[in-house]
Parts: sequence; structure tokens; C-alpha cells
Amino acid sequence: MSIIVQKYGGTSVADIEKIGNVARRVIEDHKQGKKIVVVLSAMAGQTDYLLKLAHDMTELPDLRELDLLISTGEQVSVALFTMAVKSMGHGARSFLGFQVPIHTDQIHGRAKISEINTGSILKELDEGNIITVAGFQGIDENGNITTLGRGGSDTTAVALAAALNADLCEIFTDVRGVYTTDPNVCPKARKMDAISYDEMIEMASLGAKILEIRSVEFAKKFNVPIHVRSTFTEERGTMVVAETKDMEKVVVSGVAYNKNEARITIRKVPDRPGIAAHIFEPIFKTGIVVDMIVQNTSADGITDLTFTVPKSEFLKTLKLVSEVAEEIGAEKVLGDEDIAKVSIVGVGMRTHAGVAQKMFRILADENINIVMISTSEIKISCVIEEKYTELAVRVLHEAFGLEKDQVGKEE
Ligand code: ADP
Ligand code: ASP
Ligand code: MG
Repeated sequence: MSIIVQKYGGTSVADIEKIGNVARRVIEDHKQGKKIVVVLSAMAGQTDYLLKLAHDMTELPDLRELDLLISTGEQVSVALFTMAVKSMGHGARSFLGFQVPIHTDQIHGRAKISEINTGSILKELDEGNIITVAGFQGIDENGNITTLGRGGSDTTAVALAAALNADLCEIFTDVRGVYTTDPNVCPKARKMDAISYDEMIEMASLGAKILEIRSVEFAKKFNVPIHVRSTFTEERGTMVVAETKDMEKVVVSGVAYNKNEARITIRKVPDRPGIAAHIFEPIFKTGIVVDMIVQNTSADGITDLTFTVPKSEFLKTLKLVSEVAEEIGAEKVLGDEDIAKVSIVGVGMRTHAGVAQKMFRILADENINIVMISTSEIKISCVIEEKYTELAVRVLHEAFGLEKDQVGKEE
């Protein structure tokens, strides 16, 4: 009998009634003869609430204890869900990460899954039970509870699907699939029937939070098909699958945005070998993830260096960089939190020229200044002023022909 993994996000299990509805939906699928492993997120808002509690307690919470705390959100939802299924007369069993166990490395707050023992799940499935696994959490080799990073229940689900050799991983959420851009920002966004792993990885890494990036990387590596769909309707959503020839015909398939980054510029840096290494060493050592880096062409042995970091790391980075800037004799350090990165993504860009030029022109026509640019084979990103984000998303979406009426593909 085929196994499928179904993941339900926070809004899908936001209250008792919704948990009951999900339980009924899962039981229906189970009746169709499927073996089902359900992965749940915490009830909507719970992880944020727990994080707030921790930060109200202390400015820099201990990371081990923070994971212990924020992993409890999922413990609540799996317990309630399993109670619901049992009260409806079905066999069910819940598992926390450590009970599966889902082994991870030791990096609290963004642990990576290293191995999943599927023995106990398979045994319970054979007994006809509906299995529920807490998303977002695992256990390290010393028995500490770890968490996988925000949105990490997607990764739990796909990793379980890979480990169980499941036929499919269904991601149930509050929108009807993966859209050409965030449907909550652009009402004309169009739901896609399918998107390639590579495009979805880019979209996720560029800010589309519909799927957590690592979950898609896992899916690509182990060839797990993902079906992103709505918890609240029966209709088909979007398949995330390996690239097909057809997909290449579309030059731009989506627009993404990210408001969670900040920009730091070091003015008048002496341009000599080893300077970049010197500047970035303390940043990397602290585990801060630097995204875009731009260095101007040097004039008279002096250059400017600009890069972006997550907003949550802005102040810490600014402090580190100011220290180094003084050491190396740079003129000054500037910071800007009011930026956003807007990106266009599409596998078809590999074979089409002029896409970047078109993007720059569209932004220019709206008088939107581009502060930084970065490109890869299948994406172009521009950093702009944050206040223009929604406008930029909408004009790019329209100009690249992504609107539903433009392609005549109304849902
Ligand atoms: P869940 O709680 O189910 O994990 P998330 O809030 O993490 O749900 O992700 C769903 C949200 O992702 C949507 O409500 C939508 O606003 C946002 N989103 C961003 N980009 C896209 C996109 N391209 N397609 C669909 N949704 C998107
Ligand atoms: N509850 C966690 C979060 O809010 C994990 C998840 O929902 O995927 O980030
Ligand atoms: Mg999510």
C-alpha cells in the first residue's frame, strides 16, 4: 500500500474546529486505502508567541533552552490532533521528533536532519494507525531537542517522505498552491499547475515563504514529488517536480520579494589583498549569513563594499563591521534597514537574452531606483527601497505576462 505524507501548516490547525476538520479530512483519505503520515506545525501564532516569551525573559536566550521552548508548539498540535482522530473512532499515534527519532546536527535554531529511523512509524502504519509527527523538531547526538528553523515543518514532511519512500508529499496550506507571486500582495497572481524544483528553490530562497527552502532541496535530492494545496478546498494545487522541457518555454515564471534584509556599506575601504577576508571573517564566524555582496571598482586604491544580511542580524553586524572598519582605516560604515529585494525567476532565462534589461527598464519607468543587482542562471534580483516593494512586484508581474487574464488561465 502506498504511503503519503501530509503536512498541515499553522493556519490549517489554528483552532480546535480546524484541527477537527483536518482530522476528518485525513480519515477520509485513510479510508481510500492510503497509509498516511501527518506532519503538523504549531497552531498559528504559537511559535511567535513562544519566541516573544523567551525574549521578554532575556535579551539573548540560551539557544538550547530556546529550542526546548519553541518546540512545544508542535507538541500541542499533534496531541490535540491525535485525540481528535481517536475520538472519531480511528487508531492513531503521535510522535515527537525524538520519539521517531529524527536525528539532527547540533546547531540549535537551524539544525539539519541527518537521519530518520522509520521503524516505529512503519510498524504503526502496518497496524492501520494514522501517524502524526511533530514538525520542526529533532534530537541531536547528545539527546538535546533541536529545531530546524522557521517554516521547518515543511522540511520535516519532505524528509519523512524521502525516508519512508512515500509516493507523494502533500503540503496543505492557506493558499491554493504556488502562485506566480504572493497572492496576498498581488491579487492578479496566477496559480501554477507545476513548478520545477530549481525554480521553487530560487523562489523560496528569494523570499516566497510558501515552502521552506530546505524542504525543496531535500525533495530535489531524493526526487520526492510535492503537491502544494489548500486545506480548505478539494481542488488540485501545484506540483513541484523535476524540470520538464515545457517549463523552459516560459522565460519568467515567478516574482518574489524579501523585506527581511538590511544593507551595510563600508565607504572608502583601502583596496588591498586580504581586505574582504578580514572584513567578513568575524561576520561568518558569528554564523551570520551574508547574502548579496558588491564591491565597486577601485579608484586610487580605495573602494566601497556593500552587502546584505538578515534584518535580525543588522545591529550585531553593524557593530562587528564598525570595529573592523576602524582597524583597516575605512572612512565610515552606513546601514539601511528600509530595503527590499525583488526578484524574477525562471528556468527559461537560461536561453533568453535581454530579460535583465527589461526588468531594469520596468523599474525605471516607475521611478524605482535600483541599489544593488545580483543574477544567477535562472534569477535576477534587485535591491530597492522597501516602500516600493508591492509596486515593483505588481509591475514586474504584469510586464512579464504572468497575470491570470494575460494567459487566459483563470483558476
Ligand atoms: P503555512 O503556515 O501553511 O506553512 P506559510 O504562511 O508558511 O503557510 O506560507 C503560505 C503563505 O506564503 C501564503 O499565505 C502567501 O502569503 C505566501 N506566499 C509567498 N509567495 C507565495 C507564492 N509565490 N505562492 C503562494 N503563496 C506565497
Ligand atoms: N512552527 C514553526 C514556525 O512557525 C515551524 C513551521 O510552522 O513550519 O516557524
Ligand atoms: Mg510555512
